[in-house]
Amino acid sequence: MQLTNRSEVVVNKVMTFKERLYFPAIISGLVITVKHLFKKRATVKYPEEIRPVAPIYRGLHVLKRDEQGRENCTACGLCAVACPAEAITMTAAERKKGEEHLYREEKYAAVYEINMLRCIFCGLCEEACPKEAIFLTDRMLPSDMNRANFIFGKDKLVEGVSNDSRIDISKRTNAHRKD
Ligand code: SF4
Ligand code: SF4
Repeated sequence: MQLTNRSEVVVNKVMTFKERLYFPAIISGLVITVKHLFKKRATVKYPEEIRPVAPIYRGLHVLKRDEQGRENCTACGLCAVACPAEAITMTAAERKKGEEHLYREEKYAAVYEINMLRCIFCGLCEEACPKEAIFLTDRMLPSDMNRANFIFGKDKLVEGVSNDSRIDISKRTNAHRKD
């Protein structure tokens, strides 16, 4: 049974004189190569060049802080339960007296990790979060040769405190609201 009409029957036919010369085949191959040199490239030189993405693109996660710089996450675990890839793990801790400026809620994630090799960027963690703590962003996951570097902890996930290091998610959330 043929699955496509592209299959060719292999035969041991004797090559013609033209085929035995090889030069016509080499020249037609070179012509194809030269033609491709003048075609518009389909690839970009990532990471120097980055293609624009849709406002609702689901890229690298961010753990948000509130306007006072406190971590929003309360380690409720709903994102981990919702995650179909079981990529999220966390350890909860009680906020101590004097830590009110660090954590918004009485409970916080002492450890929060996402295994980016498991993550399928479905966005269900973002949807499950009741505290507006986790969002996917338009940032690309950086490449790496070491598998261990794809376990992203709080050091890579929580946004910075200063205004310059905040991760803007407004484009993405506004696009969702329009839907
Ligand atoms: S985006 Fe999907 S797969 Fe990735 S951590 Fe969130 S819920 Fe899990
Ligand atoms: S990110 Fe949201 S859903 Fe996940 S543990 Fe923190 S508060 Fe809960």
